[in-house]
Amino acid sequence: MARKKAASKQTRSKTTVKKNARKSSKRVKARRSPAPRPAALKLDETPAARKRRATRILKALRAAHPDADCALHHRNAYELLVATILSAQCTDERVNQITPELFRRYPDAQALAHAKQETLETQIRSTGFFRNKARNLIGMAQAVCERFDGRIPDNMDDLLQLPGVARKTANCVLGTWYRKNVGLVVDTHVGRLAQRLGLLATARNDKDAVRIEQDLMKLFPTESWTWLSHALILHGRQVCTARKPRCDECPLARDCPSAGAFD
Ligand code: SF4
Repeated sequence: MARKKAASKQTRSKTTVKKNARKSSKRVKARRSPAPRPAALKLDETPAARKRRATRILKALRAAHPDADCALHHRNAYELLVATILSAQCTDERVNQITPELFRRYPDAQALAHAKQETLETQIRSTGFFRNKARNLIGMAQAVCERFDGRIPDNMDDLLQLPGVARKTANCVLGTWYRKNVGLVVDTHVGRLAQRLGLLATARNDKDAVRIEQDLMKLFPTESWTWLSHALILHGRQVCTARKPRCDECPLARDCPSAGAFD
């Protein structure tokens, strides 16, 4: 009898532990839940209709953010490249806080190529992923010195050879500093807005930055790509934020299939 009671107590306690674990896992999931997605996108439109809508979106963005520009402080291509590499998984504000001192210590690729990994890690620690970033920054600077005579390349193929440089970073440097519209800077804001605005032709929940970039390049004129990237980033920060998009005051609402879907 006593053994039965003990067994039943043990079972009850196991059930309680499981329930608590489920509750706590739900809490963890709730905390880590992704940015809200619209309930339904009404996207049964032809490619031509989507292009017309994209043109209206571009016009509305131009009116809303005429001066949109890169938020990373820089005075030359080298500084912009370093700041852009540092901005991965980090806010531009935080990057801007540490770059003045960093550029004072390492004013060019030659200086950065001779930086000590551990020292650089300490100097950029607050931007996150500092070990990887330090390795990439030193590798990038060494490659720039060895292969490009210390000058930051002004074309996509050469930029993509540098450690820590993918299309997003290369597009930012090419478009912002060299004024070459080779593609769009697809960061987390641009990806989210492209999805909410129903601008992705192939996969509406696509997270692949290169495919998102290809879709956007087909919809918008080449000369708008760099400015549009900065405008979408700004709009994503100020209005169409990840957690609480402010559709009621959004100038794109008329052409956005997600407008009001988050209430
Ligand atoms: S209406 Fe504006 S704020 Fe709302 S989802 Fe669309 S783009 Fe974002």
